Amino acid sequence: MTNQNIHKTIIIGSGPAGLTAAIYSARANLSPLVIEGEPSSTSDQPGGQLMLTTEVENYPGFPDGVMGPELMMHFRAQAQRFGAEMITEKVSRVDLSGPPHGVWIGDPTRAEPTHQAWAIIISTGAKPLMLGLEAEERLIGHGLSTCATCDGFFFRNQHISVVGGGDSALEEAIFLTRFASKVTVIHRRDELRASKIMQDRAFANDRIKFLWNHVVAKIRGEEKLTGIEVRNTLTNETSDLDVTGLFIAIGHRPNTDLFADQLALKENGYLITKPDSSRTEIEGVFACGDVQDDVYRQAVTAAGSGCMAAIDAERWLESAGHG
Ligand code: NAP
Repeated sequence: MTNQNIHKTIIIGSGPAGLTAAIYSARANLSPLVIEGEPSSTSDQPGGQLMLTTEVENYPGFPDGVMGPELMMHFRAQAQRFGAEMITEKVSRVDLSGPPHGVWIGDPTRAEPTHQAWAIIISTGAKPLMLGLEAEERLIGHGLSTCATCDGFFFRNQHISVVGGGDSALEEAIFLTRFASKVTVIHRRDELRASKIMQDRAFANDRIKFLWNHVVAKIRGEEKLTGIEVRNTLTNETSDLDVTGLFIAIGHRPNTDLFADQLALKENGYLITKPDSSRTEIEGVFACGDVQDDVYRQAVTAAGSGCMAAIDAERWLESAGHG
């Protein structure tokens, strides 16, 4: 591959972080190539996790709220308007031993990368953690969900459950009381991890009940969730819970499989970036959004960090003579 074929910037992932990086890089004349992922029902699809939500009410600039997929369509159109090139494919391998760095699409065993770039911006996001129960794959979307805002509507006047004790679980539970007659939060301990303000809100909500020291042992149902079996973590006793819906909100896992053997990760699997920067330990490799943020995890913070990554990449390209 000659230097002429080497892109200045490749952006992997196309949620708010990746597409903001694309807007900024494109406007800086860096002709970014965005490898946006493949359509699927999971969070690593083009557009990221907002593609799985309904209304987004806290993204600034939209006083009446905006639908998640619509917001991402605007991000994408804005990036394309300034010349970002989009490829709707999934990256199968990266080689960060450059710069230039290599990116593979399709067969990862091929010797030559499909694309090369001086700067790589990683914005592959995160996906919801699952419980690891046998029925999960079969019943996701059929009574089992990881997204209250997407699916809450289907449980009007029903008894449903949320698993988890963090902010996500309580946020989902509170949201779900708009629809459900009762929401039982199942938590494996007797103390919540969630922030005080969320705890206060949940405790004040009549429709939310807590099942402390319990885990979900089984999810029942063939084509549709028909109930769950829960297990007491102190006594090991099991019992049935008569719910029609189960929302799993036990945290997220960053999409770092492609990079795990090449970049340093935090203990919880998130990519490490240098303080106040999007730089990783490798020259020309930057990370932004939920793949490196285990604290805020908001669309607007992801977008902000995408902007940081584009500016960091631009400055690095300039200083390294590739600008
Ligand atoms: P989290 O804080 O990591 O909480 C995960 C919860 O799930 C914990 O209570 C954990 O139990 C439980 N859990 C984990 N694995 C489990 C399993 N296999 N079975 C049963 N329970 C399990 O994750 P999060 O709630 O998604 O929040 C992540 C970050 O985003 C936090 O920093 C949070 O503050 C932030 N966030 C903020 C907001 C907001 O401000 N509006 C909303 C959502 C998220 P243990 O407690 O026993 O570990």
